[in-house]
Amino acid sequence: MADLKDQAYWLAQAKTLEIEGRAFVDGVYVDAHSRETFYSYSPIDTAPLAAVARCESVDVDRAVAAARRSFEAGVWAGLAPGERKAVLLKWAALLEAHTEELALLETLDSGKPIADTLGGDLPGTIYCLRWFAELIDKVHGEVPATSPAFFGTVTQQPMGVVAAVVPWNYPLLMAAWKFAPALAAGNSVVLKPSEKTPLSALRIAALAMEAGMPAGVFNVVPGDGSAGRDLSLHGDVDCIAFTGSGKVGREIAKNAAASNLKRVWLELGGKSANIVMADCPDITQAAHSAAAAIFANMGQVCSAGSRLLVQRSILDSLIPVLLEATDAWLPGHPLDPNSVTGAIIDGVQFERVCEYIDIGQQEAQLLKGGQALSDIASGAYLQPTIFLARDASARIAREEIFGPVLVVFAFDTLEEAIAIANQTEYGLAAAIWSSDLKTIHHATRQLKAGTVWVNCYDELVDMNFPFGGFKESGNGRDNSAHALGKYTELKSTIVRCA
Ligand code: NAD
Repeated sequence: MADLKDQAYWLAQAKTLEIEGRAFVDGVYVDAHSRETFYSYSPIDTAPLAAVARCESVDVDRAVAAARRSFEAGVWAGLAPGERKAVLLKWAALLEAHTEELALLETLDSGKPIADTLGGDLPGTIYCLRWFAELIDKVHGEVPATSPAFFGTVTQQPMGVVAAVVPWNYPLLMAAWKFAPALAAGNSVVLKPSEKTPLSALRIAALAMEAGMPAGVFNVVPGDGSAGRDLSLHGDVDCIAFTGSGKVGREIAKNAAASNLKRVWLELGGKSANIVMADCPDITQAAHSAAAAIFANMGQVCSAGSRLLVQRSILDSLIPVLLEATDAWLPGHPLDPNSVTGAIIDGVQFERVCEYIDIGQQEAQLLKGGQALSDIASGAYLQPTIFLARDASARIAREEIFGPVLVVFAFDTLEEAIAIANQTEYGLAAAIWSSDLKTIHHATRQLKAGTVWVNCYDELVDMNFPFGGFKESGNGRDNSAHALGKYTELKSTIVRCA
């Protein structure tokens, strides 16, 4: 009953939660070889949630060996696509049946609001798993036109062992964007969740077994960056798929090159531009959308609309609406179902965001927020913050902050807006608000970004659309049939028939 599911209900549920902190290797939960653990703390109030296995190279080796054995034995890769699909669909159904438990675990571990994990992270993860499960028995190879003396096919084959290294901002969803297509394609997977949010990945491993996934096909090795580095250097990992910072992405690419030239897929950061033209169809809607674009998930979103570019003639009318819209994004206790934002992931990230707020105070005009909120719980909570900058050269207008900080600045012409939008090493997302088809058409072609929204921002959750970036936002794409291709090798088979 919805009326029972208030904050008191979730707090009571949290007390009864049994949390698994051991690694998951070859179908069973195991301690780290060293028996070392680290704590996963809740950003809500910094309370320790669970002691988690600190996986090191020996544990990574074991997980990779289990994945390799299962792959070579053909217990997964050798199944008919429809059989793999049945297991993945059952897994998705189990995730759905455990939505409350998993959403609560995710909220406790990440500090994001329970409304988000229940309404976004879990349904998104389940949708992703179902989407790739449904795709795999509809994949067709190619039959090129050849001379009649030959017959040939081009087919996709699984790569082998895929390592997935993921961040903390959408722990389960970012993991699913990797493991769903990789498993659907027939690979065996070793998943390394962020040390800040390892718990949901560990829990769903048991559900994979319950769904009938053979041992060794899906392994989870919690640990810090060194476990990720071991995977990137491992000679028996065929592909590494990473979501996280550019710094670590570069290191992974270097390690892959220095080891076995494993395939590398990187989804990295962003500093996305949200451009509002004076002929925007609805300034109020654009202002409300701009607030959501940066403040949802406490700004800890790689595709957040962190730069708001407003045509000068409407700046004065848009700003008051934006400031008012921002009041809706004040953080609350993450277990209060009415909270729209929650805690910053940890003290390190909080300090980083606060440093940017200090920099902003020197180089731009503070329009809103900027203060920590200590009355919610003992975690790190921040007011949504808005700066008005003179131009795009400010550091807060160029560097990824990954927090609830919006930088607004004015432009005069469309060409100037596009130039500013593209004047970044990133290229993840962008948006343009206008009523003019020529403006829209020109901007969508010129903006160097993997996703461009028109008259909206970050709307339409649809797995058919690839997600990823131009330039230093990464390579390859998550989601869509293009993502399945990332986890397969193409094979040309040529038969002499005469
Ligand atoms: P991070 O790069 O610090 O960590 C990501 C993961 O890499 C973690 O699991 C971490 O343990 C691991 N890691 C750390 N050092 C490593 C190393 N040397 N080798 C291998 N693995 C290592 O990133 P984060 O702080 O967890 O996440 C924030 C970043 O992620 C932001 O830059 C954000 O933009 C980006 N991000 C991008 C997307 C996208 O789809 N493009 C989505 C979400 C987050």
